[in-house]
Parts: sequence; structure tokens; C-alpha cells
Amino acid sequence: MKKSTLSTERREAREYQTPSSGVFFRVKKVLYEKKSPYQKIEVVENEFYGRVLFLDGLVQTTERDEFFYHEMLVHPALACLPRPDKVLIIGGGDGGALREALKHPLKKAWLVEIDQEVIRACQKYFPWLNEAMSDPRAELAIADGFDFIQQTTERFSAIIVDSSDPVGPSTVLHERDFYLKLKKILAPGGVIVAQAGSQWLHLEEHSKKAKFLKKMFKVCRFYSAPVPTYPAGTWCYTFLSDKIDPLKIKKLRIPAGLKYFNREVFLASFALPNFMKQALREK
Ligand code: SAM
Repeated sequence: MKKSTLSTERREAREYQTPSSGVFFRVKKVLYEKKSPYQKIEVVENEFYGRVLFLDGLVQTTERDEFFYHEMLVHPALACLPRPDKVLIIGGGDGGALREALKHPLKKAWLVEIDQEVIRACQKYFPWLNEAMSDPRAELAIADGFDFIQQTTERFSAIIVDSSDPVGPSTVLHERDFYLKLKKILAPGGVIVAQAGSQWLHLEEHSKKAKFLKKMFKVCRFYSAPVPTYPAGTWCYTFLSDKIDPLKIKKLRIPAGLKYFNREVFLASFALPNFMKQALREK
């Protein structure tokens, strides 16, 4: 996965997305640095992208381009549901996915984030988290998502996996056993979406996941969208359901005021380039 050095002495934060290339941010100011029991958390100020959240030196979200990622993680699932009543978000401690989910007329949204320190840092430096958390429909649980899904008695019409890359505590959120458990708490007709990594750099990961997900769900589709600051610039997501096929949906329920997501973008996002079709063994 990604290696990085947040070298403030050179006043630059570099993230190697391949062993010889990557992305860098000139650091105007280091706003927050703390080692939690799970990861190193840093927030820096960059002239163009604004505040940038790093976990273990890996870009998680930037003020300027986070909407690409959060809109395309959340709305493809919720826009397909007639009545998205209970939604579960696993990971997502920066609050962007929760903010997008609450734009839908749902009853309740749980945010299950393992690291209290990520919440603390984002409450301080990413204003949308507090706004989302002040919504009476939002409930925050500080827990390992893998444990939460085994203890909850709720059934969810949408489950959104906003995990970090498969390293550290996030590893388990990319594995077969996790999805078997997710399926048990998915309400009939529900949808699961998950961030799946770089469309181009993580092909092995996609084909490994597709192998077990296609056996588990009647509908298993990958879709993609740009995220400027993520590795290779195009990000992948999985759409899983036993009832809803996004390519057969007649009516999408799209909240007003989105910056990226719309019906055309939604349909186009499921069109796969040849190298992806090969990786997924799709014709
Ligand atoms: N958009 C980012 C990406 O694609 O890499 C992910 C954003 S969000 C910050 C990822 C969150 O998942 C982190 O805050 C991390 O602490 C949390 N996380 C990692 N493993 C987890 C687990 N097992 N249960 C709950 N949250 C977890």
C-alpha cells in the first residue's frame, strides 16, 4: 500500500503511492500531531487543499477534494433505496460520510469509529463532523466495527464501509468474514457499499475481493470516481445487494445541492475500463 513521510522539517508532506512516485503537500502549518493506540494522526494546512488529515502518514481527507470521495461513497447506495431508514457507517471518523448520509430522509445513522483520537482531531479541524454529529439522527460509537456488527441487534438498510486501507485495524474490514457478518445485519433489500482502493494500483485487491463477494451477493458491482489526492487519482468502490442492481434502478432519490453526484455520473461510474474487467474476470 502507500508509504509516506510527513517531513515537516522540509515543510512538505509526501505520500509515496508507488515506490518511486506519489503526491506531496507543502506544509503551511502542522495543526495537530498525536500518536493514538491505533495510528499516528496528523492534520496539516496546505495552501491549495486546505486542511489535510493523515493517518499513519496516509492522506485520508482534504478540505478541498473530500466531496468527490464522500458523495460517491454514500449516494450510490442511498439514492437507490426507497426508504433508507437505518444506516451504518463503519470507519469514517472524519465525518464526511455521515454528513452525506444525513442528507437523505433516514431515521438514524450510526458512525462506528475505532479511534476516539480521530474524532477529537476532526471535531477540531473539520467542521462538518460537528455539524453531522449535532443531527439528532446521528449516533457515534467508539468501537471496532468488526465487534460492533457482531453485537448489534439492528438491521440496516444501508451499510457504508469507510475504512482506511487494509493496514492495521482496518485489515479486518476488507476480509470475507467481515462481509459474511455484514450480510447478517443487512435488512432485506438493503445495500452495502465500501471503499475499495485505487482502481488502477490495487487490481489484485479487487480480484481477490470480487472472488468471494460474487459468491456472497446476487449483485456485486465495482464502480469508480476521481479523488484527486488519492493514489493514481481514481478510486474504486463496491456495491453489494441481493435485491438492488444499480444498473436497473428506475428512480434515484438524489438530495439537492450535491457537488459531484448526479444520475449520469452514477450510471457512468459503473462503466469499467478493460484492465478492471480483466481483473474482475468480467466480459
Ligand atoms: N477515506 C479514507 C480512505 O479511503 O482511506 C478513510 C477515511 S476514515 C478516516 C477511515 C477510518 O477508519 C479511520 O478513522 C480509522 O480509525 C477507522 N478504522 C480503521 N479500522 C477500523 C475498525 N476496525 N473499526 C472502526 N473504524 C476503523
